[in-house]
Amino acid sequence: MHNYVGPQKIIQKKNEFLFPCSKHFYKKPPQIARGEMQYLFDSDGNKYLDFFAGVSVVNCGHCNPEILKTTIEQLETLQHTSTIYLTEPIVNLAEKLSHILPGDINHSFFCCTGSEANEGALLLARIYTGRHEFISLNNSLHGRTYLTMSVTGLPMWRADPVLSDCVTFVPNCYNKDKTLEEAAYDSLEAIARVIETKGADIAALIAEPLQGNGGIITPPKWYFKKMKAMLEKNGILLIIDEVQTGFARTGKMFAIEHYDVVPDIITVAKALGNGTPISAFCTNDKIATAFTSASASTLGGNPVAASTAIAVLNYIDKNNLCLNAQKLGIKLKTGLLKLKEKYPIIYDVRGKGLMQGVELLKANGEPAFEEADLILEILKDEGVLLGKNGIGRNVLAFQPPLVITEQDVDFMLVKLNLALDKIR
Ligand code: PMP
Repeated sequence: MHNYVGPQKIIQKKNEFLFPCSKHFYKKPPQIARGEMQYLFDSDGNKYLDFFAGVSVVNCGHCNPEILKTTIEQLETLQHTSTIYLTEPIVNLAEKLSHILPGDINHSFFCCTGSEANEGALLLARIYTGRHEFISLNNSLHGRTYLTMSVTGLPMWRADPVLSDCVTFVPNCYNKDKTLEEAAYDSLEAIARVIETKGADIAALIAEPLQGNGGIITPPKWYFKKMKAMLEKNGILLIIDEVQTGFARTGKMFAIEHYDVVPDIITVAKALGNGTPISAFCTNDKIATAFTSASASTLGGNPVAASTAIAVLNYIDKNNLCLNAQKLGIKLKTGLLKLKEKYPIIYDVRGKGLMQGVELLKANGEPAFEEADLILEILKDEGVLLGKNGIGRNVLAFQPPLVITEQDVDFMLVKLNLALDKIR
């Protein structure tokens, strides 16, 4: 039996040796000690159904034995060389991705985090267009580096007090006083106005297909098609950030496929490595050709990360995780909508596949963030780990590993019903 230090000691060390910016969930957080596919176990041996997957990372399940086998074999064979030497996994991964990525996207530059992938995508857009500025959406999240933080719309993730002014923000597809369709039209109109005033300076628009941290904001079907047409007419690239939505999460390999649009640049991270750090920005022949000056990420796509990612893509395909996300996504949404009829605190249920959000509002229309916290705490004590996000921190986020079963969804819904009843 392992001797765990326990939550209190970890909090004490966090306070002493990390930064106060590093926050954790829960008033009484457990020490997570072990993972097994869709389940996590704490230091006291309690079992949790993980319904957040480390923020959409562990799509294939924790410590997935099939994937781990590849990771360990590669660790024992060749761990790292950097891209100055020729190795096989990185090119095999790039080739595999070229068959999976939307449309004509067939070149990848590998790095380690979502922030880094988006930073590279923004740089690539500048190099290709010779323009400097960007359009981004309110309540977006694109990263923690200077430029990606500058294109991040969510106030809580804009820590730098003086961010770059090369970004113009436009409304996203969310407005409590309007329908989704109206909000989406307003968003496109705002983009049109920005293009009218300074279109010739704009290199790219960057957007998540579904905003994750923004509160699982899910644009209508026609939104990105109209947006892309408008951008294309004005020589502006579309960067789609699939860091949180990629790799079967929404029931398709990439969420932008729901919108029938091929972006100019796409960024991926998180679930590509299922917990092993790897990310990439990817584009077509024409745009890739523009990036000729030398660039390298020391650890990006190293043999361990690349081999693991290949195993992840094989696992998703072999186990039909897109289909599972579609099917269980419908089951999950149906269950959540039933709860919405029963509990007036549930204002909206939205999302695609196994990326669903439940927005909670108080009777006076304000964000019910205390209630969201309470629900998370109760669920944790009942053996379910859920996420939360949204500008008001009042959106419950359902983003489990895609290997969950119908029984897991039923179990979570029973516990959620219990929690909603308790806080009533
Ligand atoms: N883009 C999106 C859509 C994200 O959700 C995140 C992280 N939550 C990032 C970028 C940044 O990724 P990372 O933390 O790996 O830098």
